[in-house]
Amino acid sequence: MTGQKTKKSTSENVDVVIAGLGPTGLVLAHILGKRGHQVLVLEREPVFYGNARAVYTDDECMRIFQSIDMAEELQKDMLLDTPVQLVRPDGTVIAQYKPLKRPFGWSVVNFYYQPYLETSLTNALAKYPNVKILRGRELINFSQDADSVTVIHQATQIYRFSDESDVKTEAQGDSDIQQVTARYLVGSDGGRSTVRAKLGIEMSGKNFPEPWLVVDLKQKDRNKGLRHLPYFNFVVDPDLPVVSCVQPDGFHRFEFMLKKGQTKEYMEQPETVRMLLSKFVNPDDFEVKRKLVYTFNALVANQWRDKRVLLAGDAAHMTPQFMGQGASSGIRDAGNLGWKLSAVLNGQAGDKLLDSYESERRDHAKAMIQGSVLLKDLVSMTNPVVGKIRDGVIKGVLATPKLKEWGQEGGFKPKPVYTKGQYFGLPRQYRSSPEGSLSPQPKVRGFDGKQILLDSLLGDGYALIGLGVDPSQALSQTSKQLLKQLGCQFITLYPYAERPQNHTSASLNPDVLEVEDIEGNMVNWLRKTGHNQPVALLRPDRFTFAVANQAEINAVIQQLQQQLEFSHQTTQYKEVIV
Ligand SMILES: Cc1cc2nc3c(=O)[nH]c(=O)nc-3n(C[C@H](O)[C@H](O)[C@H](O)COP(=O)(O)OP(=O)(O)OC[C@H]3O[C@@H](n4cnc5c(N)ncnc54)[C@H](O)[C@@H]3O)c2cc1C
Repeated sequence: MTGQKTKKSTSENVDVVIAGLGPTGLVLAHILGKRGHQVLVLEREPVFYGNARAVYTDDECMRIFQSIDMAEELQKDMLLDTPVQLVRPDGTVIAQYKPLKRPFGWSVVNFYYQPYLETSLTNALAKYPNVKILRGRELINFSQDADSVTVIHQATQIYRFSDESDVKTEAQGDSDIQQVTARYLVGSDGGRSTVRAKLGIEMSGKNFPEPWLVVDLKQKDRNKGLRHLPYFNFVVDPDLPVVSCVQPDGFHRFEFMLKKGQTKEYMEQPETVRMLLSKFVNPDDFEVKRKLVYTFNALVANQWRDKRVLLAGDAAHMTPQFMGQGASSGIRDAGNLGWKLSAVLNGQAGDKLLDSYESERRDHAKAMIQGSVLLKDLVSMTNPVVGKIRDGVIKGVLATPKLKEWGQEGGFKPKPVYTKGQYFGLPRQYRSSPEGSLSPQPKVRGFDGKQILLDSLLGDGYALIGLGVDPSQALSQTSKQLLKQLGCQFITLYPYAERPQNHTSASLNPDVLEVEDIEGNMVNWLRKTGHNQPVALLRPDRFTFAVANQAEINAVIQQLQQQLEFSHQTTQYKEVIV
């Protein structure tokens, strides 16, 4: 560091400081920005890191993008429903993952180009004057007391990334140290998180020694070079395990597993890259955007919250890339944490609600890590005998139609269901009862005859959905008032084409929307609960707080109030010191 002078400007006050503008920080900034909170985002890199890392996301994350009004725009740059397959070097297919069901309203397989995704999300933040982004500023320290966190940041001293390589550059200017005070700090500052380090939080898990060479390509001519590779392939060659990864807009990635004795220097040489690429494509058809040897980690931070400071995304957990769930887990963290922080900041919940962030997300993120490690083991076998056994087992599984469908539809993927007893919601009434799980999202037909995904009618708050009944009918005045203060939307859901036709205009409740479930996903989900007149209370992130008979609904609302520690008569909340 040269020419360093330190100065402290007067302190700025915001609701939340977010350290790190990767996928996690971006989604969190949107959620808080949309809800009107004052947010300051610190991003170490002075310019956007224009290289791809993440390429895949799923329907659950698309639903989170929908909640921030970004799904349709992001989807324009994605490849949907691309089959993912295990193939032999000669191209014969061993197994395919090609889910076509849409339980949450969106396609399950979505391939994207990370710079497009991050640029769109960043540009769209401009609509929130309450979200301020400071690029080229790194969090260097913080301290907290009972009411706030004071964050110290400075002009970045070492830039980690550039478009061409991961070579680091040293800054030449003044470090210009400043401070900001916030109610909460979220460290979404990646795997080498400064926030996590400053808290002294360790990570548990495994670092894997097997390195892979990642080569990112761009087609020179859109019609040349890739037409023979239409799908995402795990090429299970015992001599050279390879991943061939489709991306939109002429981008493509190959990943090659290093053999014993092969060095990073050797693998990253242009001649080696050319030789490896030649096995699959004509290298002359492509520009090599990046070639880098990566190792990967399967790690989870031992603690995700320290009072007013929370960790999210790679700062909290690191996932091997094989299932495409690293960034997706971070997006889920943001989806879980965003509405909770907002509720606490608005006085609609006690601070204890934030404890449910880790207790809900940890096991799910861990399950994704375990799944990714398993998939890595499955696709990177170098012992031909073990590989043959794997192929035989898969063949056996696929011979059973039910198991084949289970595999193709992704039955192996961890479900969005929180661990029993560790979530914000009522206890599960039986093993598969819906409390603590993500509700389905049907396409519905509104009273105007238009078709729309249900969440788009629900707003940003809670939703009370009655199957064939007005869910507000049995509510006491107290329950009604509480739900009104929480911004709850009331919905009566009918099976398709079964709306009653004997109502008069005057008999309809203006506070309730009536919709028809076109394919019946949510109707079936509610019927399966066995309740006579089921009413579902959905949280703002569309996880299920409870499903009950209409007659029990006031007790449910009372539970909601207790778990939120929300006293709506006074609109004060009881602070719980943790
Ligand atoms: C080869 C590869 C392929 C992958 N494929 C997939 C995939 O297909 N799908 C998927 O979901 N995931 C995938 N991943 C994982 C995914 O890229 C990461 O999980 C994801 O980027 C993590 O997002 P994040 O926002 O938590 O952290 P990051 O993306 O790491 O962002 C953290 C940000 O914080 C900034 N920062 C760091 N320190 C500070 C500081 N002190 N102050 C301010 N700012 C700071 C950094 O500059 C950075 O911009 C892949 C990863 C690799 C390496």
